[in-house]
Amino acid sequence: MRISEQKIEQIKLSVSIVDIISEFVQLRKRGKNYIGLCPFHNEKTPSFTVSEEKQIFHCFGCHSGGNVYKFLMEYDKISFVEAVQELAEKTGVDLELETNVHDEQQNELEEYYELNNIAAKYFSDQLLVNNDGESARKYFEERKLNLKTLRVFGLGYSLISNNSFVNFAEEKELDFNRLLTLGLVGKSEKGRLYDRYPGRIIFPIFSPNGRVIAFAGRKLDEGTPGGKYINSPETPIYIKGRILYGLSHAKDEIRKKGIAIIVEGYMDLLALVQNEIKNVVAVSGTAFTEEQVRLLSRYTKNVTLLFDSDAAGINASMRSIEILLDQDFEIKIATLPKGEDPDSFINKFGKTKFQGHLAKAQNFFEYQSAYYEAAGMFNDSGKTAEAIRELVKPAALIKDELKRSLLIKTIAKKFNLREMLIESELNKAIKNISKLETSQQRRTNIKANIEQNEFSKKSNSISLIHLQTERDLIKLLFEGDVEVVKYIFDNLNVEDFSIELHQEIVRKVSNHFSQKENIDVSLLLDEFIDEKIELYLRELLFDKHSISSKWEELLPDSQSEFKLLNYTVEVVNKMKINLLDKLIQKNMQNLELVDNEEEKFELIKLGNELKTERLNLIKETK
Ligand SMILES: [Zn+2]
Repeated sequence: MRISEQKIEQIKLSVSIVDIISEFVQLRKRGKNYIGLCPFHNEKTPSFTVSEEKQIFHCFGCHSGGNVYKFLMEYDKISFVEAVQELAEKTGVDLELETNVHDEQQNELEEYYELNNIAAKYFSDQLLVNNDGESARKYFEERKLNLKTLRVFGLGYSLISNNSFVNFAEEKELDFNRLLTLGLVGKSEKGRLYDRYPGRIIFPIFSPNGRVIAFAGRKLDEGTPGGKYINSPETPIYIKGRILYGLSHAKDEIRKKGIAIIVEGYMDLLALVQNEIKNVVAVSGTAFTEEQVRLLSRYTKNVTLLFDSDAAGINASMRSIEILLDQDFEIKIATLPKGEDPDSFINKFGKTKFQGHLAKAQNFFEYQSAYYEAAGMFNDSGKTAEAIRELVKPAALIKDELKRSLLIKTIAKKFNLREMLIESELNKAIKNISKLETSQQRRTNIKANIEQNEFSKKSNSISLIHLQTERDLIKLLFEGDVEVVKYIFDNLNVEDFSIELHQEIVRKVSNHFSQKENIDVSLLLDEFIDEKIELYLRELLFDKHSISSKWEELLPDSQSEFKLLNYTVEVVNKMKINLLDKLIQKNMQNLELVDNEEEKFELIKLGNELKTERLNLIKETK
């Protein structure tokens, strides 16, 4: 599947990167750019920058960046084609896919999706129509799941009988190498292929877009060998810990209600959805991962945790609280009577009673202090101090100062303590967090500096001022002003740039410009396949290497176009002076080498001409 370049351009032009990223990241304006907290690494002070003018983003912390497609690809973990499709849907641009042209990588991913689809359909058929699927049907009947739910969530069954899926795949001539990668079949040491999920209930796992990306197989009866669950391995289309079960079905409802209910298991989720409670996702592990929280934050920042009331469930809640607070979530925790989980509870007591429990959900502070209280930690003073320290820890993760001080007041009031005391505990906790963060930040900075040095090593014979002139020229090329670009290419060649890195960038721009007669920064950036060059360029465009203080003064002006061209002339002149300096130097070296008087005279004449030209340029520039 391939999408034409014009379409890719058309779609990109019909949106603003600021609008799109704003859906996921809170941005605020600073100067020409927008800044916010980076969604790709953990940070408390914003280093994530978006340029409306250039339609690209860049993070000074983790160095991620690119155009709007790149953002969606990284954020959603989707392919380029999917990112284009997602934007096309948003903007209403009609995408006629040209399927006859091959895009190998994308085709390969599509084949994995297709195989998962075929397998899901196969397992579903075994559950719904095969005589041998009786035991599985019975299981779901006992768990009170109806046909509609089984269908909507694509539930299935893998027969116990000898390698029925392998046989099916052979019959259909499916690609066994890919089936192995997907973990749908296994291979013995002797090379014999076998079913990976025999005798198991199959839960297909969907991507947020609703595609089958993995499977979870649950033991139907205790006699089945292996653990309670067997899951897909990581594959080209599935990364563990980045998926929330049920999200593709729940996302609209979550947006509508403005809140998500988080449960532990598949069956919990299915039971709630069948009872018309649809804003539910399952973590299907023990606690939230950071990536799951990030994924969820696209739809809401409000959650109610509804984990089992056993020790494992409480632990999972406690750990989830920190991850959620760290990403600015509002958290409520609902508890069910001991021994019940959402699945068993709603089937026994019905929807109304269930919603009653949801309504009684506590905020995380109430929940945690109740927990410590129940554990007897407030009975002696030593343990009380420990409990308070534990309670203050999550408060340190709250970024909103007002919310934080409200919480401090609550804690102080509840335990009859002076606020000052709590505050000093809180400050300690905050210090610990920021220590951790700055050391992380430092590490990434060091890495960037090393890469930076690789470039400068090659350029150490060239003066810093000269390099800055070249950088300014490259920046000018990316200002999106046709006149400016034209002027530069009329006056300078690619070879005039002194280091290879700059030459490569200028060459690409020149090719792009001669083909399109304009400069689309965000598209052009995609043409730099070498990540180091792309990063260098992005940092340059976001002013990391800017020494010239003129730059900022130049642009916000109403006559900026005029000023920009003037400035371009000035920089091009500087560049020419640099080039002349080189020629003059070379000329003097040559002069020392020749003995012939006539040649000497010619060289002196040439040298004088060069010097006059240089002088004129200097006069012009002043
Ligand atoms: Zn970042």
